[in-house]
Amino acid sequence: MQSNTDVSTDATSQAVDATPRRKTKIVCTIGPSTNTREMIWKLAETGMNVARMNMSHGDHQSHQKVIDLVKEYNAQNTDGNTVAIMLDTKGPEVRSGDLPEPIMLAEGQEFNFTIKRGVSTEDTVSVNYDDFISDVEAGDILLVDGGMMSLAVKSKTADTVKCVVVDGGELKSRRHLNVRGKSATLPSITEKDWEDIKFGVENGVDFYAVSFVKDAKVIHELKAYLKSANADIHVIPKIESADSIPNLQSIIAASDGAMVARGDLGAELPIEEVPLLQEEIIRTCRSMQKPVIVATNMLESMIDHPTPTRAEVSDIAIAVREAADAIMLSGETAHGKYPLKAVKVMHTVALRTESSLYDPTKAPSLVARPKALLNDDFCKSQLSKMFGSHATMMANTLRTPIIVFTRVGSMAVLLSHYRPSSTIYAFTNEVRVKQRLALYQGVVPILMEFSDDAEETFSRAITSLLDAKYMNEGDYVTLVQSGSQSIWREESTHHIQVRKVQC
Ligand code: ATP
Ligand code: MG
Ligand code: MG
Repeated sequence: MQSNTDVSTDATSQAVDATPRRKTKIVCTIGPSTNTREMIWKLAETGMNVARMNMSHGDHQSHQKVIDLVKEYNAQNTDGNTVAIMLDTKGPEVRSGDLPEPIMLAEGQEFNFTIKRGVSTEDTVSVNYDDFISDVEAGDILLVDGGMMSLAVKSKTADTVKCVVVDGGELKSRRHLNVRGKSATLPSITEKDWEDIKFGVENGVDFYAVSFVKDAKVIHELKAYLKSANADIHVIPKIESADSIPNLQSIIAASDGAMVARGDLGAELPIEEVPLLQEEIIRTCRSMQKPVIVATNMLESMIDHPTPTRAEVSDIAIAVREAADAIMLSGETAHGKYPLKAVKVMHTVALRTESSLYDPTKAPSLVARPKALLNDDFCKSQLSKMFGSHATMMANTLRTPIIVFTRVGSMAVLLSHYRPSSTIYAFTNEVRVKQRLALYQGVVPILMEFSDDAEETFSRAITSLLDAKYMNEGDYVTLVQSGSQSIWREESTHHIQVRKVQC
């Protein structure tokens, strides 16, 4: 049984309340190390913004428990500490079967994979995919967990692929298998996925992370289903198969964001391509105002050790500099020994890196500077963009936080797109919008009933920020009224106001 060495760390809610606030969001995968009430609360207080459940592991009962706990946490915390729920589909993946205990594989040893179910002997284990035999050829290299181990295919029979171990190690239960340079020929959304997607609809999750998306067709298919089920759930494709790369633009255009899932990406493509693809995926999402998550191995060594490697720290800093909306923990929080310490490291490194990027006393950096819109045609459709851009510039110059009121979230998303130096406090009267905004860089979503009277709503918002100690009396704030739906203002009028906070 795993010991939660981490439970007693001194992680406190201060990390979340500290000013300046961390902008880059943290996604935590929930698993055996963290699926208790105590750990969900501690993760949230340490900095978790999104709880991810991977349908490749666990069952509906265990995921249900986690979903209920996160909802309970959110119901109790109404002042800006919101945890969104992400359901990650299993997808058309190839995995080895369950093992009673890990098998040690040594270089040069013979080892076999069989499509017969339930096999786990010293030299043979099952795979969950019947076409494995036809997809694999002698000479192929099989990668376990994206390359942690590898085997060369020597020959095959009607039901078994015979290999020799190239890079050995410990083979555990349900490991990912890839053939280097090939994507599996499986349907994009499997029957199990549809069941899990329905489970997500029933539970009103906020995001689906869709595994092994190869083209936009699967996104359209899922979106059509969600529409017919009247489910307002955002779809984040995981870019992890070689086949997805030529379709990057159309996949992201059809989706509500993307995840750079570096594990399988690095197995299906040469690993040296991964950093370049990460940059390209982030750039593409940013240009479409869609959130982007960098995932896999970010603090891998912290699964077993209480401190990260220096390379892992740099990896986090790079994702933050590239202006990703979120960075993700997988095994670190799912089954690691130090889940809270891992979140704390991510939090601290992201915050420190951001302080060098978003320091308003320095020349505007690439990420902080709003893209010049002045060359764009000044037309009505550009007004929200212009107000978003100028509110950002104003807030950066005056060093004020930004307050925005939003029903559908679009103005908060637009402000996040311009990456202001300060925090964006996004007040919304829609629970789904509040939940969703938890993923966006720099946005603190807060649920609040809107009154018919604008002034009354503004002062209620400011009072709640004062009560939560997010700001002090005498501070200035930049208040933006713009966006696709007018609240209080005349349809034709947009505002940016600067206000001094008074009780
Ligand atoms: P993916 O490619 O979809 O990320 P993965 O196997 O890498 O699949 P992660 O979600 O990254 O899975 O989690 C890392 C590891 O943590 C898993 O391989 C598994 O061993 C463990 N894990 C994650 N979620 C659970 C769970 N709900 N129950 C048991 N173990 C889990
Ligand atoms: Mg997966
Ligand atoms: Mg993973």
